[in-house]
Amino acid sequence: MAFLDQLKQSFFKKKDKDAYISGLNAFKKKTDEVFDGLFLDSRIIDEDWFEDVMVALIQSDVSLHTANAIVDELKTQIKGHYKHVDESLKSLFMEVISQFYGDFPLDVMMSATGPTVILIVGVNGSGKTTTIAKLANKYKKEGLKVGVVAADTFRAGAIKQLEIWAEKIGVTFIGPAKNQMDPSAVLVDASRIAKEQNLDILLCDTAGRLQNKTNLMNELNKMFRVLDREIAGAPHAIWLVLDATTGQNGLNQAKVFMEVCEVGGIILTKLDGSAKGGVILSVKHETDIGVIFVGLGEKMDDLVIFDKEAYLYSMFEGVLYDNQNSSYE
Ligand code: GDP
Repeated sequence: MAFLDQLKQSFFKKKDKDAYISGLNAFKKKTDEVFDGLFLDSRIIDEDWFEDVMVALIQSDVSLHTANAIVDELKTQIKGHYKHVDESLKSLFMEVISQFYGDFPLDVMMSATGPTVILIVGVNGSGKTTTIAKLANKYKKEGLKVGVVAADTFRAGAIKQLEIWAEKIGVTFIGPAKNQMDPSAVLVDASRIAKEQNLDILLCDTAGRLQNKTNLMNELNKMFRVLDREIAGAPHAIWLVLDATTGQNGLNQAKVFMEVCEVGGIILTKLDGSAKGGVILSVKHETDIGVIFVGLGEKMDDLVIFDKEAYLYSMFEGVLYDNQNSSYE
């Protein structure tokens, strides 16, 4: 079966397909607009076509560097084999993009001996607090004993917000004690409470100030030291939250965080309503770190595991499948 058909078939079997359909609607509209005419039957495959693909990718917020690499790969696989657009060309196009992204499965190493500690990093406003609440909700539903920690002592609003979410979801909340200004001290308390309460997973909000890389690095390093002292192997994962609406800026943020700590996966928030979903391809290509979750709304259930097939199908459904009577409008 052609790749295009396989993707469509597997998309319609997916549990989260409705979330992708509604969440990626703005991005899909953008894709429809910028790729308009590129996949019309009989369109000639020449230098102009590759140039138009490049422009369309950049307009979808794929970086210039990544768009160049994708077009080079398309040229290698397509040039000379196809004179014009047909169904098999469309299928190959999708296959090349899929292979280009590669794979990046969500792989949480649960600690065998105590709470699994996950640090959530990212700039303020990216959606960290909301994402922690969504993750807490998800893991609680899966039957785990969850704790959330507000370790960024500078953000009184975020601390309160997380406390309210924790109460609503029914998970343990740990915040700074009175006059406690050192985030690492909060993490020490949180680690002890997590062990006392036999928590399975501890989700920690951290500082999000990027202005000074050295300070950020020092603060994070101190957190790593104290956590490892309290719970062997902690933190077990560091996940970076990026706001999809910031597009290429998000890519730059990712690079800074990756310089100062070992990011194990990206959570891309606010993908709903954003036309900049192409940044997913650039982040993976330029950092080698993939997206593990996407935020598709502000509600607690609006966090889904990133699914490359669902993403690609949602992105290109309008332009690649329009002859196949498959629109979900
Ligand atoms: P923080 O400063 O990084 O902790 O960011 P917050 O969690 O406070 O989120 C900032 C704003 O983004 C809030 O208004 C959230 O409701 C909103 N937000 C977070 N995630 C998403 C998402 O996936 N979709 C949408 N539409 N809004 C989101």
